Amino acid sequence: MRTLLDLMLPLSCAGCGVAGAGWCARCAAVLACPPVRVRPRTDPGVPCWALGPYTGPGRRAVLAAKESGRRDLAEPLGLALAGGLSRLRSADRPLVLVPAPSRTAAARRRGGDPVLRMAQVAASWLTDSRMVSVLRVWWGVRDSVGLTPGERAHNLRGRVTTIPGSVAPCTTQENAEVVLVDDVLTTGATASESVRALAESGIRTHAVLVTCAA
Ligand SMILES: [Zn+2]
Repeated sequence: MRTLLDLMLPLSCAGCGVAGAGWCARCAAVLACPPVRVRPRTDPGVPCWALGPYTGPGRRAVLAAKESGRRDLAEPLGLALAGGLSRLRSADRPLVLVPAPSRTAAARRRGGDPVLRMAQVAASWLTDSRMVSVLRVWWGVRDSVGLTPGERAHNLRGRVTTIPGSVAPCTTQENAEVVLVDDVLTTGATASESVRALAESGIRTHAVLVTCAA
């Protein structure tokens, strides 16, 4: 239905509302700057980077992709992520993108996993790069909206795990740089649990890159 509506109605920019394109050039420029280093309260123990702040067009795009089922944003957000990754990665090493896990039910309700799609697009733009989805969150994890940082960390503790049998593609390339990608970094709880889960499976995360940091 959404796709049908998109065909019939002119798209408006998810960042600023201007008609004609799902993501306009002016909003794209906001996420095209060099990634900035961010330091979340819950430290994942690896460098964290963001394409932009969790305000303005970036925030609106992330929310539209996540809450309003704007699947068309996977392309521009993935391209922006690829731009950031091309600045951060080592040129001579393969790149493995691991999307941060989203609650299955939440992702289904929202019409798919926008972070996974965005990571897929990013990997397709970069040489010697691929996306492997190896993380999941166990049932029972509530949406983190409205929780304090302490509650968020507690809510997630030990609940992020690797999917059995899925880690092989990460570990077969010994010199690969593994980057955890997500749409938003707020307290750092999800990133920390994800990095921990990967480490428990023998995968060293080199960095975290998100679209927006709060
Ligand atoms: Zn715009």
